Amino acid sequence: MGTRFQITVFHSDRDHAQAWVRTAWDRIDQIDQVCSDWKESSELRQLCRSAPHPKPVVVSADLLQVMNKALEIARASEGAFDPTVGGLVRLWRRCHRAGRLPRDHEVEKARKGMGIDGIIIDEAASTIQLLREGVSIDLGGIAKGHAVQEVFQLLERQGIRHLIIDGGGDLVLGDPPPGRREWRIAIGASSQQVSSNGTPLKLLIPGRAAVATSGDATRFTEIGGRRYSHILDPSSGLGIEGPHQVTVISTDGAIADALATAISVLEPQAASDLLQRFPGSAALLVDPRDGSHQVLGEMSLATEQ
Ligand code: ADP
Ligand code: MG
Repeated sequence: MGTRFQITVFHSDRDHAQAWVRTAWDRIDQIDQVCSDWKESSELRQLCRSAPHPKPVVVSADLLQVMNKALEIARASEGAFDPTVGGLVRLWRRCHRAGRLPRDHEVEKARKGMGIDGIIIDEAASTIQLLREGVSIDLGGIAKGHAVQEVFQLLERQGIRHLIIDGGGDLVLGDPPPGRREWRIAIGASSQQVSSNGTPLKLLIPGRAAVATSGDATRFTEIGGRRYSHILDPSSGLGIEGPHQVTVISTDGAIADALATAISVLEPQAASDLLQRFPGSAALLVDPRDGSHQVLGEMSLATEQ
């Protein structure tokens, strides 16, 4: 999934914990093999290559689940999150390397196959049918969240409750470390990311939550003096302009991940409306240039060291 995962657990039985953490790594590899956009051989790439499908195709439980959640967020966000942006994402990456904006005819071509109405999911039969030729599904905005959620559940089922799983900034938290009342999650990878009064912003979370951040301040491209993100606005086909960082708290890793991507695209009012539809969710919008921030929904923040 093109990122780095980190698993931290606190447990009295070291051997038990280590054995299950090894299993967790295998589980992440398995999900990577299903959802990766970078691997030609991934189940997702194969599914897209074989479209259009005259008949529904049986898929793995992971693909079914991630696609289901992706469509749920796509509908709720009215397309701000769109898993069929794959063609535009590839075009944008090419243009990024060439240091130019895409041309209109390129955007038109990359849109071919786009639209979630070309995807039919049958949960009971475990099938997906892609109706359009040239459809390119990109789960880059949700798969890491699914992976951290799955690993969390796997370990929790083994009685490992004090844990934190990090998939490149997409976190799932279990109970806080023994002896602590809460998790304190510093927002932003660099010390420059501070609140307006000069201290690092921290989220205080009593436990069991998913926290996802989108809009890494280091992943952008500058063209003609403007800064564009690797998150695209599906309606324009261009990267959103930033810098601009969104952190979402929710009850599920995949949902938090996809909501963070969607909210990066949306205006604050539309973002608030979206959050209302997912009880237990809230978002923190940060401008990394000056640390100014806005909270949508309810979230506990600390700004002391
Ligand atoms: P990060 O990769 O920094 O964690 P995200 O979770 O927001 O950030 O995922 C960004 C990735 O999602 C992009 O690299 C691309 O693959 C995909 N993507 C970009 N724009 C959209 C969008 N509007 N809807 C769905 N997926 C998107
Ligand atoms: Mg995301």
